Amino acid sequence: MAIEAPKEYAHAVPVRSHDFPALVLNADFRPLSYFPLSLWSWQDAVKASFLDRVRIIAEYDRFVRSPSIQMRIPSVVSLKTYVRPVRTAAFTRFNLFLRDGFVCQYCGSDGRMTFDHVVPKSQGGRTTWDNVVAACTDCNLKKGSRSLKESRMHLLRKPTRPTPDELLNSGRKFPPNYLHRTWIDFLYWDIELEE
Ligand SMILES: [Zn+2]
Repeated sequence: MAIEAPKEYAHAVPVRSHDFPALVLNADFRPLSYFPLSLWSWQDAVKASFLDRVRIIAEYDRFVRSPSIQMRIPSVVSLKTYVRPVRTAAFTRFNLFLRDGFVCQYCGSDGRMTFDHVVPKSQGGRTTWDNVVAACTDCNLKKGSRSLKESRMHLLRKPTRPTPDELLNSGRKFPPNYLHRTWIDFLYWDIELEE
């Protein structure tokens, strides 16, 4: 099955500006997670604020009104209690493409992407970080259900499980398709500025 590699950031749930999602930061002001980006619906963000679980850090220029109150929709919230971040990268389609920089691990092209089992499933190859790589549909077809040796094909690099930091570094090359201006500081504050 050929799967088109997302050219932009893929969220678990598509994020659109009219959804007014809130970026959720940990108590240390870093995003709770990057892949996928920690976002809440505005309803959840408002609720958490009323329950005193979050601080509102930034807001949209939009109000929600009820008979008793009126408030701006939060665009960034931070948890009042620190949550230990997840230290292993989730084995997802997007994260695998991200690890491989959205390029075929055989020929380096960035065309239509799919996945390839380095050791084919038919030879006992498993679906794991160290046995699955991004591959263009041509290389995938060419390799078929043969091993590297049988196909005489070579990998650009040996696949391994990435650390969250490695994914984060890759992810910076593929910015999200929707970023509210108030999120930028929290996502990219440690990136070197360019002229
Ligand atoms: Zn290829």
